[in-house]
This record gives sequence, structure tokens and C-alpha cells, in this order.
Amino acid sequence: MSQYAECSDCGNPRPLFKQCPHCGSESLPVLATDTIEFNLKQDGPYVEEALERLTDYLRKSMELGIKAIILVHGYGSSGEGGRIKRAIHDALENNRYSDRVDEYHFGEDVAFGSEAYHALLRRRPGLKRYLKRFKEGNAGITVLLLGSPARSA
Ligand SMILES: [Zn+2]
Repeated sequence: MSQYAECSDCGNPRPLFKQCPHCGSESLPVLATDTIEFNLKQDGPYVEEALERLTDYLRKSMELGIKAIILVHGYGSSGEGGRIKRAIHDALENNRYSDRVDEYHFGEDVAFGSEAYHALLRRRPGLKRYLKRFKEGNAGITVLLLGSPARSA
């Protein structure tokens, strides 16, 4: 993930949500993109962990000004991947993340080359280089479009 941002203090590439490995800076990094990919099934979390991880990630992403997230949750009719996917879908449909997520598109609804896919890319061209990789496996992703950060005036 280091290519997503650079350090606002030393200018080196650095991870989004950790301090700079080069100079130790903890200031907000400068974003190289407003679109990022987040793999929710990394280290095989249980459903509730995965949902909490997403809550935390959405909060941090909004602070950084990220506009779109390709959420990789996996799929499958059995196993934890399928459970996480169903839980994410349910949570989105029940507005669990509605304070941060403006819009969501399930991967299977924006299949590569479809009308919906092109409509989405016209609005968020930054998604293209991520989505084109998911020609077959797009049932394992959900695209989240984030709202504007709520700034207290
Ligand atoms: Zn630095």
C-alpha cells in the first residue's frame, strides 16, 4: 500500500495509516490517489471483526480524503469468505455505514464491460485500474463511494 501516499514531512512513500518508516512522522500523508483497495479478508477475520475493521478503515479513509474504496471481501457459498460478503451486504443495506458511505455497488452489479460498469467509471475514472482486474471475480468485491468528511465549522 506504500504507493498510495507520500510523507508530508520527508516526501518518501509511506503507508496510509502508519507513521512514516523513513522519518517517523505521524502527520497525515499526502495522497497519491483518491481511490484505494482494501482487502478485508486479510488474515481471515471472523465476520464481526471484519465489520469492525471496515468501520475503522472508513473513518481513517475519510480523514485522508479518500473518495472510493474497492473492498475485497471474497465470496463463496460456504466458508468465512461467503459469510463476510453476506454480512457486508446486510450491513450496507441496513445503513450501518451510511454516515460515511454515500453509495455502494456490489461487484456482481458492475460486471466488467456492463452498462453499470461504464456508468460508474464515468463518475469515478480512478476506479478503472482496479476494476479491470476483476473480470471474473467481481462477486468478491464491493465498490464503496465515500461522502465528504464532516468538518465542524
Ligand atoms: Zn517521512
